[in-house]
Amino acid sequence: MKVQCETVTDGAEPLKPWKFEISYDKLVIALGAKPTTFGIQGVEEHAIFLREVYHAQEIRRKLLLNLMLSDVPGVSEEEKSRLLHCVVVGGGPTGVEFSGELSDFIQRDVRQRYSHVKNYIHVTLIEANEILSSFDDRLRHYATKQLTKSGVRLVRGIVKDVKAQKIILNDGTEVPYGLLVWSTGVGPSPLVNSLPLAKAPGGRVGVDEWLRVPSVQDVYSIGDCSGFVESTGKPTLPALAQVAERQGKYLANLLNKIGKAGGGRANGAKEYKYEDPFVYKHLGSMATLGRYKALVDLRQSKEGKGLALAGFTSWFIWRSAYLTRVLSWRNRFYVAINWATTFVFGRDITRI
Ligand SMILES: Cc1cc2nc3c(=O)[nH]c(=O)nc-3n(C[C@H](O)[C@H](O)[C@H](O)COP(=O)(O)OP(=O)(O)OC[C@H]3O[C@@H](n4cnc5c(N)ncnc54)[C@H](O)[C@@H]3O)c2cc1C
Repeated sequence: MKVQCETVTDGAEPLKPWKFEISYDKLVIALGAKPTTFGIQGVEEHAIFLREVYHAQEIRRKLLLNLMLSDVPGVSEEEKSRLLHCVVVGGGPTGVEFSGELSDFIQRDVRQRYSHVKNYIHVTLIEANEILSSFDDRLRHYATKQLTKSGVRLVRGIVKDVKAQKIILNDGTEVPYGLLVWSTGVGPSPLVNSLPLAKAPGGRVGVDEWLRVPSVQDVYSIGDCSGFVESTGKPTLPALAQVAERQGKYLANLLNKIGKAGGGRANGAKEYKYEDPFVYKHLGSMATLGRYKALVDLRQSKEGKGLALAGFTSWFIWRSAYLTRVLSWRNRFYVAINWATTFVFGRDITRI
């Protein structure tokens, strides 16, 4: 069995695509997901998603460009306000974290360095329902209060249309913007949609309890692009790294066992007796709000028992958790120093 591939190159002089095939014995589909736009016109053209590294680079470029444009002599007050209005659509953890951090950055750095903008630059977060709906009421209220305190304007509304310089809400309100960041969740990519395989609710690649794609030999799927087929009776798992990572480890283990049992070749696992299915245990959710504040909820569900905190301690837990997940020990040490000095002196003195 084969996968058809084509090279993709970026840059000033992209290479001509080169087509090739890769034969496989076992195939794992782990294509991730795409940002959802709900078919709203203008989102793809005018908004920046929060997904890939180049999105972050584009956000930085646009923000700096708008800061410079707003300083051009003769720019009207109205245009200045528009250029410096940063709008985030989507109040899930990603949209909230981004709004909090952006507002922090504006309060601490931008207002100091670009003093001419301090009365014009604002962050607005637009959400159709309530922000952070996966957290309980107490944590949500804390987040709302904290974001408002740090200067983020929260607007309850549904975006109907996106134009080059303004968005239009369901009730007809027009919101002019200079930077528009779109973070309303993810859905299956066009490639996943086009695959003639069993599908799980939400259009993901369907898998059984062992992460196998039903009725297709030797094909498995994990991560954001996969979901349990209805017949398993299991719910769709959230699009989270903690799911993808554990599915990856589980599948690596399973494939090693199959290999050791002599089933490594294509069609070789027909007789293999699959035993322990994949079981997901949620480790909890965290979201940072900026200004050394965060939410941590380590319960299995909103109603369950366990640790659910908000404030500085949560921020400390959040930061420590991420620090232990990334970087080498040497770099963790540098980050810890940077973080401690930022906290103690109000700025990163290691950069002086
Ligand atoms: C801003 C942001 C913040 C997040 N924060 C958290 C968090 O705090 N905690 C958490 O648990 N999760 C978080 N997530 C979610 C987490 O990143 C995803 O759940 C996780 O990355 C999913 O892993 P994956 O391997 O399924 O997909 P991905 O990590 O998306 O990897 C899929 C890969 O497949 C590649 N690909 C796609 N199509 C093709 C193709 N046709 N050919 C070849 N390659 C292809 C893509 O380029 C990509 O590299 C966050 C996500 C975002 C965007």
